[in-house]
Formats: sequence, structure tokens, C-alpha cells
Amino acid sequence: MSSTLSIGRFAPSPSGPLHFGSLLAALASFLQAKHQGGKWLVRIEDIDPPREIAGASDIILKQLDRHGLQWDDSVTYQSEKIPYYFDILDHLKDQHLTYHCNCTRKRLNHLDSVYDGKCHKLNLQAENTAIRLSINDSLKAVGLNDDTIRFSDGIMGNYTQSLNQSVGDFILRRRDGLISYQLAVVIDDHLQGVTEIIRGADLIDSTPRQLLLQQCLGYTTPTYGHIPLAINNLGQKLSKQHHAKQLPQTNEQEQLWLALDWLKQRPPSELRHTSVNEIITWGITHWDMSTIPNIAAGIAAPKNI
Ligand code: GLU
Repeated sequence: MSSTLSIGRFAPSPSGPLHFGSLLAALASFLQAKHQGGKWLVRIEDIDPPREIAGASDIILKQLDRHGLQWDDSVTYQSEKIPYYFDILDHLKDQHLTYHCNCTRKRLNHLDSVYDGKCHKLNLQAENTAIRLSINDSLKAVGLNDDTIRFSDGIMGNYTQSLNQSVGDFILRRRDGLISYQLAVVIDDHLQGVTEIIRGADLIDSTPRQLLLQQCLGYTTPTYGHIPLAINNLGQKLSKQHHAKQLPQTNEQEQLWLALDWLKQRPPSELRHTSVNEIITWGITHWDMSTIPNIAAGIAAPKNI
């Protein structure tokens, strides 16, 4: 057991009920923390109302409970911390690391998701603008002279991304006034003392932005492990957008067994028909993150899931 308490977390957006792909992230983050005798927190990332489905948060919490994924402490909701996110944003502004941007959606679509810095140095007024982080000013402020961010992922191995080539100056507060995922997630992982982040590989390309923000804010960087995505028979990641089915409300033990099997934990077949509690207990004891395959292209979800 490590000397510092391991703190993991699951941070769903309430855009719909959990499906098999989200169960994998929840289970893997839970087992990674619990195997080390640590804590597992649940945080509802509800700061994007247009993407939210009424009632989804409660459904997600019920689903976690029914799968034996019992969280520590109380569930936190990002929507309750918005003034604090704005304070931190002001702090970044005061360090001259941000700027206002009034580029239209049409122009941005044209840029193909790498922002070209057009509004940097224009000194635009706040009205009807987004706020972006200047990558080059931030790198300078934290004493880095290269925009290539490298980190060692606990599952996917070494990961490298040039921030300027892959994303460009990115949004911290959207034009519609909403705080961005990148800023809120970094603030909360820090506030909650999260030491180890296990989540889906669709977020690995966000990690370099989060590492830079952590440095700008003087936060400690947690360790990361990105699990491969579960894909459907068309090769698409399981997601609401691709009509992934919500987890059935029966046979939770079967779903857990399939998830452990998918994560290559080799659960014994006789475990399959036992109880949720027995499977979770087995999972905590036998958890081994090193057996999860590092297949960036994704792995087929079990049939009929
Ligand atoms: N809220 C994000 C999502 O549901 C996950 C955030 C994270 O794990 O960093 O996709």
C-alpha cells in the first residue's frame, strides 16, 4: 500500500444514464483506488445545461449503487462551484495568461479545431466573447520553452502532444458564459485531492491541456490511466451519440463480470452468477491495471450490451 492515500474519482456528465462504456470507467477507477485502500469520489459534471438530460444525475447515482460502486464522502456537483471557477479564471487573467476571443462559430469550424490565435493581442472587450488560455504565454509563465507536453500514462504508455499543433489556445469560458470542462475538471481534481485519474481514452488528448493548466495554477499533477474505448460492431465508441444502450436494470452482477472480463482481469467463470458484492470484493482483491490492453483503437464491447 502506498504511503499517501490514493484518491480516485468518477466524474460523469449528466447527459444520459450510464452505458457499458461508462461502467468500465467507473469500475476501473473504483477498483484502482480501492485495491490500494484509497477513496473513490463521485463528481457530477453538470456545468453544460444544454447537454444535460433532466433526472440523469439521479439515475447515474442509482446505477452506481446497484453495481456496488459505493462512493466515499458526499457526491459533489460542479454547478455548485461556478463562482469559484470564475475566481480562478480571474487569477489566470491577472497573470495575463488569457484573452478574449470573438471568433464566430463559422470561422472556428473552418479552422478544424486548432485555434490560430487570431484574437491574441487584439485586446478585445469582454462583451460577447469567449476567454482563451494563451499557450505560449502560459508556457513562458511556468518556465517551459517547448509546447510539446509529455506524460506517461499508466495504461496507454508514453503520450506526447504539441499543444499549438493539436489544439491551439483553448477555451476556459465559452462565449455563452459557461465555464469549460478543461478548467472545471482541473480545479476540482485539485480541490478534491485526486491523486489518480482513470477514465476513457477519448479524454487522453485533453490531458496535456490539463497538465498545463495545473502548472499555471501551481497544482500537483495526479497520475493518469486511460482505458481503451469499448466500441460497437460498427467500430464506433459506445456513447449516447451512437445510441449506446443504457445498462439494463437487471443482472448487475453479470454486467460487472463482463466489465472485469473486458478489462482482462480474468474473473473466474464461477463468479459470474454470484452476487454484486462478491464480484466487487473479488475485483478489489485481484485488480491489476497492468493487464488492461493499451489498444488505442478500442476493443469490441460484449455482444448484447
Ligand atoms: N465529465 C466527463 C465525461 O463524462 C469526464 C471527465 C473526466 O473524467 O475527466 O465525459
